[in-house]
Amino acid sequence: MTKMVTDVVCPFCGVLCDDLEVEISDDGKTVVEVYNACAVGAAKFLHTAAKDRVKRPRMQQEDGSYREVSYDDAIEYTAQMLARAKKPLMYGWSNTNCEAQSVGHEIAERVGGVVDNTATVCHGPSLIAIQDVGIPSCTLGEIKNRADVVIFWGCNPAHAHPRHMSRYSIFPRGFFTGKGHKGRKMIVVDPRNTDTMRLADVGLQIEQGRDYELLSAFRVAIRGEELPNMVAGIPKEKIYEAVEIMKNGRFGVIFFGMGVTQSLSKHHNIDIAIMVTKDMNEYTKFAIIAMRGHYNVTGSGQVMGWQFGYPFATDLSRGFARYNPGETTSNDLLRRREVDAILVVASDPGSHFPISSVKEMAKIPSVAVVPDINPTSAISKLHVPVAINAIEAGGNCYRMDNVPIDARKVVDPPEGMLSDYEFLTRVNKRLGELMGVA
Ligand code: SF4
Repeated sequence: MTKMVTDVVCPFCGVLCDDLEVEISDDGKTVVEVYNACAVGAAKFLHTAAKDRVKRPRMQQEDGSYREVSYDDAIEYTAQMLARAKKPLMYGWSNTNCEAQSVGHEIAERVGGVVDNTATVCHGPSLIAIQDVGIPSCTLGEIKNRADVVIFWGCNPAHAHPRHMSRYSIFPRGFFTGKGHKGRKMIVVDPRNTDTMRLADVGLQIEQGRDYELLSAFRVAIRGEELPNMVAGIPKEKIYEAVEIMKNGRFGVIFFGMGVTQSLSKHHNIDIAIMVTKDMNEYTKFAIIAMRGHYNVTGSGQVMGWQFGYPFATDLSRGFARYNPGETTSNDLLRRREVDAILVVASDPGSHFPISSVKEMAKIPSVAVVPDINPTSAISKLHVPVAINAIEAGGNCYRMDNVPIDARKVVDPPEGMLSDYEFLTRVNKRLGELMGVA
């Protein structure tokens, strides 16, 4: 016998689809089948039943082998490591819920650490740009119902956010747009001829790293002024054609991804993309939204923002919150060997950081609080497996358009396994005892 859980939130990418149906075993312990999810989302749910899953904390030995330890021992090791460190780095947070992020920040404040999230290697430049010039934005629900011009710039939702186009941006029947794809014009800007670009009405295959130039050209064309024959590898006629479509729309949106945030000019690209959006509002309604990757990376910025005033790279080592990307960002700290311990929660810097940072991580005391074996757990002194958030533990998360969504637990975690919220809460309590403050 099985039972069906409906309206389940998918904790894979920032689209946070909330219409999944998950068939679970009658005892509520196993995911049997997943409906409505894309392949990557479904795989995350089905992975809960993986036979090779690590179910207890493991301490790495001198020879590289592992010794199983209890959660109590893991809590003691983590608390001692953080209490002894002069300046611990607490990195990750994008694959956990807002409640766990909040406890993590409390710990960082207590131990005088630096708390940074995965935006440091993805949409950090977007957050800097938003602080520079503001952001005219909207929700994905408004896009679904109103947007008749959709621009994807430096992102490939066909692969990275597989249901984005079918749920919100291109294919759904909108209240004001009507007939799905036919009611919308699609413009794609990317150096590659991606699967998303193949669907576009206008595809602009830009030369790598020249986004700032092309965005400047859009501003010129919007004002009706003369362009040179080619800009960033795009003939001027194509640019005028794209701008004409934008001006003729009733509601347009720019979705932008890491192709713009992590290429040359970084946050200046986003500054000017926002200015294009602002310019377009002289003619019609236009908005801009970042294509956030991990399911709750947006939430991490929100929680850090309301607790410390900054969305990532917050240094609490002087007893107050400081924020200076380029100085207080994880890779800069690791490269300068300025941190003497690292706690990774709900992310995998071992895969995403440059090798020089990963080598430094391997030298200092380290704890990885992640459900699976990954390159980060492999180089950490202690690996603490935890329940998979939004599947085996509930909690709040934020969609890429900053809409908060409550994710419910669907199945029980393996017997005796803690969630990262429970683990961090107990570490925080133990730190209070070690440091003589309640
Ligand atoms: S698009 Fe993203 S949130 Fe939706 S099912 Fe796929 S992975 Fe999950």
